[in-house]
Amino acid sequence: MKPELIFDAKAELAEGPTWDEKTQTLYWLDILGKRIHAGMDLVAQLDDFIGCLALRQDGNLIFGKRASLLDLNLSTSQQSVLASVSEVATNRINDGKCDPTGRFIFGTMDIAEEAASGFVYSFDGRQITRLMEGIRISNGLTWSPDGKTFYYIDTPTREVKAFDYDLGTGQIANQRIAIRVPDGMGWPDGMTSDMEGNLWIAMWGGAQVTRWNPNTGQLLEQIPVPALLTSSCIFGGKDRNELYITSARKALSDVELQKYPLSGGIFKVTTKFEGMPTFRFG
Ligand code: CA
Repeated sequence: MKPELIFDAKAELAEGPTWDEKTQTLYWLDILGKRIHAGMDLVAQLDDFIGCLALRQDGNLIFGKRASLLDLNLSTSQQSVLASVSEVATNRINDGKCDPTGRFIFGTMDIAEEAASGFVYSFDGRQITRLMEGIRISNGLTWSPDGKTFYYIDTPTREVKAFDYDLGTGQIANQRIAIRVPDGMGWPDGMTSDMEGNLWIAMWGGAQVTRWNPNTGQLLEQIPVPALLTSSCIFGGKDRNELYITSARKALSDVELQKYPLSGGIFKVTTKFEGMPTFRFG
């Protein structure tokens, strides 16, 4: 499994890959560039940090910008605030995605990556519910194929936590550690899952995506990526066996950029596995 560069985007911090199966389009964002992209096309230039996005049932987008969730009409480019969180001004929304029933789950973090001032929330379209607190860098989240287990990464912990997930209420319970990521592999960042129930994790600073069995904590596969700061991944393609991978250039030295000149690009690798679908909001 060898990733190929599909967009030489040279993004500061590409993230939030989201697959639209109806149009076979990859959406992604540049957190620091404050941009939303569809493939190589620029969909929106924003005025603050964007952390995550998801498709709505009608094909438009919901996204998390600084402390708010907004709606973006792709036809008119009109944006409107759906809901906001009340947090310190030095926080911003980071990674997020929809659960199998269409709730939007998202986390927040200290922009300076120092204080454990972040939270994890669930938005059902009417109200925001707090699920977790004391988070440092809220990152990858995904579900088991049956939707009954929620997996979550607070990056500095180097752990993937598992929770029982109530699809009816959206509540989490019974926190346990599913995976401990050893030193030297990079930091666990964005995450998705496959239909066998295994987890795919982008390794920030590790130039790779890894596949793990969350029931045993065992590392199953390592896929080298020619970008040091591998940030997130999602399955797409007609058979949902193509893994799309985002990366960053942020804060890389000249020496690192010479070694990883494709940093900030979007990559694709065809796998032997069928990934979980990207769920829609609402
Ligand atoms: Ca991230």
